[in-house]
Amino acid sequence: MYDLIIVGAGPAGLTAALYGARGGLKTVVLEAMMPGGQAAITDKIENFPGFPEGISGFELANLFYQQALNQGAQFVFEPVVRLELAGKVKKVHTPEQTLEGRSIIIAAGSKPRSLGIKGENTFRGRGVSYCATCDGAFYKGKKVAVIGGGNAALEEGLYLTKFAEKVYIIHRRNEFRGSTLAVERAKQNYKINFIFDTFVEEIEGKDKVEKLILRNVHKPEKEELEIDGVFVYIGTEPNTQFMADGLEKDEKGYIITDTLLRTNIPGVYAAGDIRNTPLRQVATAVGDGALAAVQVEKYLMEQRKEK
Ligand code: NAP
Repeated sequence: MYDLIIVGAGPAGLTAALYGARGGLKTVVLEAMMPGGQAAITDKIENFPGFPEGISGFELANLFYQQALNQGAQFVFEPVVRLELAGKVKKVHTPEQTLEGRSIIIAAGSKPRSLGIKGENTFRGRGVSYCATCDGAFYKGKKVAVIGGGNAALEEGLYLTKFAEKVYIIHRRNEFRGSTLAVERAKQNYKINFIFDTFVEEIEGKDKVEKLILRNVHKPEKEELEIDGVFVYIGTEPNTQFMADGLEKDEKGYIITDTLLRTNIPGVYAAGDIRNTPLRQVATAVGDGALAAVQVEKYLMEQRKEK
């Protein structure tokens, strides 16, 4: 029986693990992939304090992981398929085993949204990517397109200029959602071309991506753009596919919490990108992880008093 089971080893989950284990709770973290979550596949993180020159997401994630391990948190690298949250003993099912705990912090994060257009699934891994850090190096001297207008599209577009000869950033409006700093940096890079007011309608090719079919909102005819790869950065959605019944979520599927990160189920907390937070950053995820773990300590203390 664990005191605390944490679902997800991104910045929120790893910080909760650090606080939980350091606070003397028998703590286990379940993770389907590798520690660090989305942050681990970010080329450079410049807005997490303590690293004046910035730090690679992979390196930062590994530091978080080591720190949680050093404090005695345990890790199980298996996907969570089901959560049983009602009652005092919470159950977490993986394909291999069932873990039991007195409390849970759900910190499973978010994943890239897909466009849902023709050709996207067909060419996934053959020119369609959701991770510039993972796949950018395949495009040395080639032409790529980035779809989206937020910080991710701008920053990852800029990262891709390290490899690609040309990077088209295709945005459905003529105004970016990303920060002024990210927009300015992208504007100043000669390899980046902006295509505004344009939707990508289809991804075409034979064995791999060869071109995009574009529709400018002000023009009647469609256009073609020849490219070798396309990177989709149109926002994220919560990793709640394994969720149990009874957990309250908002209309987009993010878990609803109060200011103390309590969900509607006693003993169940949510932290980081998976909850209905106004800001999704490593810095906010880390704050969430700390707060959730401290609330768990208080909850467990109350439970012991009630016995
Ligand atoms: P985002 O900020 O939600 O922006 C999504 C962009 O994709 C918007 O420009 C949106 O257009 C566009 N879009 C959405 N659906 C689309 C569709 N079906 N077709 C075409 N375009 C579509 O998401 P993000 O940039 O992917 O970032 C994800 C999260 O990570 C955010 O919370 C972000 O703050 C965070 N992040 C932060 C940093 C940083 O702090 N440096 C870096 C990267 C990511 P509209 O503008 O027209 O809605």
